[in-house]
Amino acid sequence: MGGMKEMMIEHQEDVALASDYLVNKGVLQKCEYHGEIFGGGAWKLEGEFWRTAMADRNRGDTGPVPWATKIEAREYTDLLKEAYEEHCGDECSYCAKLMAD
Ligand SMILES: [Zn+2]
Repeated sequence: MGGMKEMMIEHQEDVALASDYLVNKGVLQKCEYHGEIFGGGAWKLEGEFWRTAMADRNRGDTGPVPWATKIEAREYTDLLKEAYEEHCGDECSYCAKLMAD
């Protein structure tokens, strides 16, 4: 049972890496002041995105997603979907709060 927590932490790190990748691709946005990632929501990424994502994965250690080479393709796509859905919202919540105050 001891490894369970580590696996969860590792998963969160993978989701964070997937999120950064989506930001780099312009799929998600990152607030330049707070570092919060947003712009995701219900899954709507297209086939063209997946071709790019898989090509990037195939580039291995020299590509933009070296972390993806150690996981299954299926896990990779699941991570990208999870990262996208996790960062739903049209704006940084910190900025939104500041605007409201
Ligand atoms: Zn912000």
